[in-house]
Amino acid sequence: MRIAIDTHTHSVASGHAYSTVEEMARGARRAGMKGFVLTDHGPALSGTHPYHFANMRVLPERMHGVRLYKGIEANIMDAEGSLDLAPDFLAKLDFVMAGLHRECFGPRGKEENTAAMIAALRNPLVDAVSHPGNPDFPVDAAAVLAAANEGGKAIEINSGSFRVRLGSEANCSEFARLCARTGTRIVCGSDAHFSGDVGRLSEAIAMLEAAEVPRELVVNATVRSFEEFLTERKAARGAAGRGSL
Ligand SMILES: [Zn+2]
Ligand SMILES: [Zn+2]
Repeated sequence: MRIAIDTHTHSVASGHAYSTVEEMARGARRAGMKGFVLTDHGPALSGTHPYHFANMRVLPERMHGVRLYKGIEANIMDAEGSLDLAPDFLAKLDFVMAGLHRECFGPRGKEENTAAMIAALRNPLVDAVSHPGNPDFPVDAAAVLAAANEGGKAIEINSGSFRVRLGSEANCSEFARLCARTGTRIVCGSDAHFSGDVGRLSEAIAMLEAAEVPRELVVNATVRSFEEFLTERKAARGAAGRGSL
């Protein structure tokens, strides 16, 4: 399986990553990617200024021969799924991913972790959840996938997890197999914190292949499927905005 767009990357703006946006773009091109999503950590983890996300329109859509999508890896702050960036800033981004991180959501039980992830997935502004297979935050995988499916959202198979979140394999493999069975969408990201790691997806791809995940479920497999996903999500966000927000 080939993946065209890396949906999870961090630049120097994340505070503990080491490459500029231009270096990340060059890294994406070197890795043969068609594009990447810049998903710097939300302010609660990294100290990133909220205007970092509000001002992303100044960045071009294409850089060094690849497409640049503007996104965030927002922090889920509590079991109600609160996020660490204002909704009007989130609404301007191409791709909003939300995830559990120790600094923002201390280790809790499976029930609370699951409630937090499901609540985030029910937020109309959230498109995907990052690394749900993280063993630090055990969740009820079937319940998380049901919430993702309900909203046409994606769960991430994070290739970096196999290097930095040790012990992720069994959980990620369970997620991949369940996605294949339930038809839940997937995004596959590197979680690169350095330009040389953009597009480093081989571990996640091997897992998706082993789980016999059909390529159509992997929304970032092609530029076209990713763009279609973003268009669909944008329409769903708009509909929610006209209704309840
Ligand atoms: Zn993360
Ligand atoms: Zn990340």
